[in-house]
Amino acid sequence: MRLREAALILLSAAHITAALKCVCQLCTNHTCETGTDGACWNSVMLVDGQEKSVKSCLTPAEMKGEMFCHSSRNNVSKRNCCFTDFCNNETLHLNPERPLGGPGWGRLELAVVITVPSCLLCVAILLGVLAAQGQRCAYRRANEQNAEEPLDNQMLMSPDKCLKDLIYDMSTSGSGSGLPLLVQRTIARTIVLQESIGKGRFGEVWRGKWRGEDVAVKIFSSRDERSWFREAEIYQTIMLRHENILGFIAADNKDNGSWTQLWLVSEYHEHGSLFDYLNRYTLSVEGMVILATSIASGLAHLHMEIIGTQGKPAIAHRDIKSKNVLVKKNGTAVIADLGLSVKHDSNSNTLDIPSNHRVGTKRYMAPEILDETINTSSFESFKRADIYSLGLVFWELARRCSVRGLNEDFQLPYYDLVPSDPSVEDVRKVVCEQKLRPNIPNQWQSCEALRVMGKLMRECWYTNAAARLTALRVKKTISQVTVVRDVKIREICEI
Ligand code: ADP
Ligand code: MG
Repeated sequence: MRLREAALILLSAAHITAALKCVCQLCTNHTCETGTDGACWNSVMLVDGQEKSVKSCLTPAEMKGEMFCHSSRNNVSKRNCCFTDFCNNETLHLNPERPLGGPGWGRLELAVVITVPSCLLCVAILLGVLAAQGQRCAYRRANEQNAEEPLDNQMLMSPDKCLKDLIYDMSTSGSGSGLPLLVQRTIARTIVLQESIGKGRFGEVWRGKWRGEDVAVKIFSSRDERSWFREAEIYQTIMLRHENILGFIAADNKDNGSWTQLWLVSEYHEHGSLFDYLNRYTLSVEGMVILATSIASGLAHLHMEIIGTQGKPAIAHRDIKSKNVLVKKNGTAVIADLGLSVKHDSNSNTLDIPSNHRVGTKRYMAPEILDETINTSSFESFKRADIYSLGLVFWELARRCSVRGLNEDFQLPYYDLVPSDPSVEDVRKVVCEQKLRPNIPNQWQSCEALRVMGKLMRECWYTNAAARLTALRVKKTISQVTVVRDVKIREICEI
């Protein structure tokens, strides 16, 4: 008996460690693969009175947020995790053991079951109507004519809800990792595209409208399906949501018969990328400090591991540059384009995908990436490489800062040392061999905020990656400038 138990334990341990193939509705061929220590996920939830099932893969990090594997107590959703190939193929049901009105149901039981929920429903509708009258989204007030846009009657999809409400509801009551897939799909399929606003490594980014609100839609070509899936997966990491990380709304893959449309929907920021913004505008000292603080805060949140069932793994971005930072209307920034990011599993000290060490944008690559001396088995290495790139973005910011009416034109880092589309070799010669870094002009010394920015950059650019500052340290140092700005910035920089 003991021997059998031990064999069973060993067997299940073996299942937990190997990578698995699972059924996945959102994926190509309806199949996904978990990383090591992942699980197949099977769930069913009540949407508009009907059972909808969702099947996919769970990464080891998501497994840690145990809630993925446990059903809710109120029988509105059921989830389980299993550990053999395609074990999530079976379709779960929410039905209670005894069917309603079936044999064994007395008249009294039936009456209670029918009348109590009906009364509760009436009360809920009444409360809902009262609440909706009191709290409408601003865009609804402005655009009453949009009230009748077509929408599926999905969970949480009352026509009074705007995106902020939906996301807020989910972050307070859901798993902390995003909207349910069916809600995401419904949103994505009712967006009307307006104009193309950007192009990057993958596909094209469009401004779209959803119920009168602007959204950004990144459209991937079907050959970039892996990138689409990866970016959507990263954005749905538990507890990733932060005011300085681009707000993810939905991912959708729509097969129109001849090709698959892959969409990633996010909050729209009309100023576009920091690159575009700095090309167009100069910055006040305060404006520069606010942008720098928010970029450092976003990166510090990404890099930070939060421990606990609702925890977040540490994430390295691997493509920090001014084109991947967006500027919000209020002058703060968000970090975007998480498609190359890697998550760290601190238990096994592994990354969630095999790391190809030379990814990212050549101009912004840290010296250890350029000369391939980076230690890819240590997650710290990737964070340190992000910090080097952050220093270059700070340099782009500081050049555009206007002090006593003086500033420099916008330039990319190393604009004077490498060609416009440099090869790795071009950048490596400058950064590793000649050990050059962007120029820090003397006049920055006469302004407190620019002096701090210059010092921070130098401490982000060390060849010795271990000597570089952490994102948290950069954030703290630059935000101290904010604290004293009224006294120092105005006195020293602007008079
Ligand atoms: P890629 O992976 O192709 O590089 P990005 O996510 O970096 O795509 O987006 C490319 C460009 O599209 C950005 O540099 C920016 O100009 C624009 N863009 C992307 N997302 C948004 C958004 N949410 N709001 C406004 N502009 C955006
Ligand atoms: Mg990009």
